[in-house]
Amino acid sequence: MNRKKFIAGNWKMFKTVAEALAFAHDAKGRVASVDMVQIAVAAPYTALHALAHDLKGSNIELAAQNCHWEKEGAFTGEISVGMLKEAGVRHVIIGHSERRQYFGETNATANLKVKAALAGGLGVILCVGEKLDERESGRAFDVVKADLEGGLQGLTAADMGPVVIAYEPVWAIGTGKTASPAQAQEMHAFIRARIKDGFGAAVADAIRIQYGGSVKPDNVRELMIQPDIDGALVGGASLKPESFEALVKF
Ligand code: PEP
Repeated sequence: MNRKKFIAGNWKMFKTVAEALAFAHDAKGRVASVDMVQIAVAAPYTALHALAHDLKGSNIELAAQNCHWEKEGAFTGEISVGMLKEAGVRHVIIGHSERRQYFGETNATANLKVKAALAGGLGVILCVGEKLDERESGRAFDVVKADLEGGLQGLTAADMGPVVIAYEPVWAIGTGKTASPAQAQEMHAFIRARIKDGFGAAVADAIRIQYGGSVKPDNVRELMIQPDIDGALVGGASLKPESFEALVKF
């Protein structure tokens, strides 16, 4: 299966509306010729609507960084899938390690969000990955298996088309430490095997598995040429148009 690579920037809590639009104006032209790679940016909520308008007709797709699982209700500070769709969003990151670490997100809440996002017509980028102590104590594979089983619980093979998995070892996020290409490939192959166990060979063959964790223009290529790495979820290095361009033109 020839899986199209998918590189998404995660801007976290960076960029005002003005800064997001300045990025879009610059980046659109830089990446316009890229057709072998699917490209997205996950912007802060406030910038989504303006960005959707600005990116229309470009090859940069819009993602959000989180969503709530209910359609509406008394959930102060939260945002629904329908609201994101209306703003022009196509994908949503779910279960990012920063959401788990600082906002109490669990595999159970990630699962509710995955189901809500799929039901509402958004593509899902489900983040999984182990912490440093979990890797050092030999539990990385068990943790990632539990993240996958928990996050994808109750889904069928037919649901899996819009699902992308992002393997993000927590010890590599924002730390400058990248998993070696061999370490990342080993975990990506493991994830694909678990997807095969759960959803069958056709889903396992088709699903894109992104790597995330200090991906930069100077290490992206060695990661992307691994057989089971189908793209990247990139924080810091996605914030500047020139660096973003270098990433998607790896
Ligand atoms: C991320 O935010 O998902 C991420 C991988 O961040 P960074 O690239 O900065 O490590």
